[in-house]
Parts: sequence; structure tokens; C-alpha cells
Amino acid sequence: MLQALQSRAATFVALRRDLHRHPELGLQEFRTSDLIAARLAEWGYTVHRGIAGTGLVGQLLRGTGTRRLGLRADMDALPIQEENHFAHASRHTGVMHACGHDGHTAILLAAAQHIAESVDFSGTLNLIFQPAEEHPGGAKIMIDEGLFERFPCDAVFALHNMPGHPAGHFVFREGATMASSDDVTITLNGQGGHGAMPHKAHDVVVAASSIVMALQTIVSRNVDPLQTAVITVGAFNAGQANNVIPARAKLALSVRALDRDVRDLLEQRIRALVKAQAESFDVQVTIDYKRDYPVLVNTAPETEFARQVALELVGPAQMTLQGQALTGSEDFATMLEHCPGSYLLLGNGAGEGSCMVHNPCYDFNDAILPTGAAFWALLVQRYLTH
Ligand SMILES: [Zn+2]
Ligand SMILES: [Zn+2]
Repeated sequence: MLQALQSRAATFVALRRDLHRHPELGLQEFRTSDLIAARLAEWGYTVHRGIAGTGLVGQLLRGTGTRRLGLRADMDALPIQEENHFAHASRHTGVMHACGHDGHTAILLAAAQHIAESVDFSGTLNLIFQPAEEHPGGAKIMIDEGLFERFPCDAVFALHNMPGHPAGHFVFREGATMASSDDVTITLNGQGGHGAMPHKAHDVVVAASSIVMALQTIVSRNVDPLQTAVITVGAFNAGQANNVIPARAKLALSVRALDRDVRDLLEQRIRALVKAQAESFDVQVTIDYKRDYPVLVNTAPETEFARQVALELVGPAQMTLQGQALTGSEDFATMLEHCPGSYLLLGNGAGEGSCMVHNPCYDFNDAILPTGAAFWALLVQRYLTH
């Protein structure tokens, strides 16, 4: 399988670099979506477009098998100015494929062609090309627009390249794998005044400072020490002059957890603590608590199935059976709330020159493209059996 995909590599490396040259932000993947749809149709897939705007599903039905499999790739780029200077660097100012979604799309397309032409299977294959993984979450939009009603799946899988792991190394994990991610904005309204007369004001700077410190006690004092939680205050905006007490302060928080109950606890404690703090300083507070991506939970049987496929493809030395959970988040989590499945990592290369995703010098490693595609093709063959 790996050899067959390696022989197709040149075509798909060229396609990957073409995507890299023409990155598009979430929900604006028009060119990317057109390109994917044209290829899939050429290879005999029935193409369903316009799910979450640029999202699409390529469907292939074979034989009398009743099993239905979903494979998902993300397509969007990031609002980052690329600092690479190679020939396939981004042509769009301020937009860059800095997370390797160009690679994920090319991997799934390479697999799609090989599966259509050479893989013997029986059942329904749904190739899901999803917009806006980075923002605002295309998975949820596709699901809200009826993805799994129109294209039911018994299992759904996705992969993400990961710098820091050797090229082509598979990392699996069952259970909670990526954190939930919630955005919280806290706005304090007090009474502004002269910096020389604080007793005539209600100072939101002191109140917000106290809130920032109090928030630190949630992870240290309320969350079970054996659980994972993060509360980061990433923005603190108030005031402009040294002698003016401002009337308004704003805090922006990123809140993460690897367990659904811990996520609930964090929200409950943040709300209670912020309200009590604001009251004690006699300032008004509004809390805008936006639940973003959920905890990504890989189901055990599907993860084990994916491990067996990788074992057959690359052998035990090139895989980690149960990797570490990450505090990053991923919107494939939403698909896994509706369908069993597994999300796995594919090493993008380690050591010198390997650059983390979301860095302006990052690039997807084309050498792993055939490995990823062969993995999908073999997974289809093993899952959709006669
Ligand atoms: Zn990313
Ligand atoms: Zn990504």
C-alpha cells in the first residue's frame, strides 16, 4: 500500500504546494473547495457541496456492505504572514497554511484517488472536507447543517501532522486527547475619577487585578490535582493615563480542560468568584462565557482499530500506542460528540529545522504525504470489508 502511494507522490506533492501557495481563511476556502470537488468527481465520487458554505462530502458506494465510514480533512489557513521564501510560499499577504491543513487535504485526496482506482471494499465511504477548523469551527456548522443525517457514519477518523515527532510516526490515544477551549470576556464597570482622589471612585483596575489573582486559585484549590485545567488571562485592558482612574476594565480568558465535568466546574467557579470579587469592590460586572470547542474524546474500539491499521502499515517501531493528551484544542471534537471515532497524530519531523505549527516558518513535510494517504487507504480496506 505504501509503495503504491509513493508512486503517486509527485502529483500530490505538487497539489499540496499549490494549496500552500493559495491559502484561504476559514469559510472562504472557495478555490480549495472547487479544486477538491473537481478531483473527486473525476475519480467517480458523488460530490455534495455547500455544507457549511465551502465544506463538501465526496461519497463512494461499493458492493452490498452496510458499514459507513467517514474520513475528515480540514482545509483552512491562518491569518499569519509567511516568512518562508521557497517557491511554494503563500501568495496571499497575511494568510498562510501554517497548520498543515494543505497537507491534510492533499493526503486525503491522494488516498481518494488510490481508493477509487485500486482498493477493494464494500460499503459507503464519506470523505469529509471541512472548512474553518481554526476559526470559528466548521465541524459544528457542518453538523448543524445535517452532516451526519445526510451522511451517516459508523465511525469517523481524522489525522493531524505534528512537528516534534519523527516524520511518519503515528501517535494514537484513546480517551480525552485534546482539551476543551472556552473564551471568557469579563467587563468591569466602575466609577472613574481623578487619580489623586481614589476614595471618590470605584476603581476597576484594582478590582480586575484582584480578579486575576483570585482566578489562579481555581486550578490550584478547586480542581482535583490529578486533573488537567488551564485558566490564562491573555488580555487585561484598562485606562490610558497615570492620573485617571478609568471607568471600565476588560479581561479576556482562555479556559481549558480535559474532562467534561472539570470544564463545568471551571465555569461555575469563574462565574461565582468574579461576581463575588466585583461585589466586594463595588463595581458592576458582566461575564460573556463562550463555550468553544469541546473536549476531544477518542473512543477505545475505533482507536484500537486505527492502531491495528498502522501496525500493519508501518510496524510497531513507527507508532506510539497511547500518546500524551494535549491542552490544545481541535474542532473534530464536535464530530466525535456525534459519532464514534479517533483523531491521531502523524509526525511531521523532529530535531533541527522542525518548526511548530502556527509559526510563520512552518511548512508541511511532503515526505509524510504517502504514509498518511496509505494509512487512509488501508483503513478503508480493513473497515469496509465484504
Ligand atoms: Zn492550527
Ligand atoms: Zn491544524
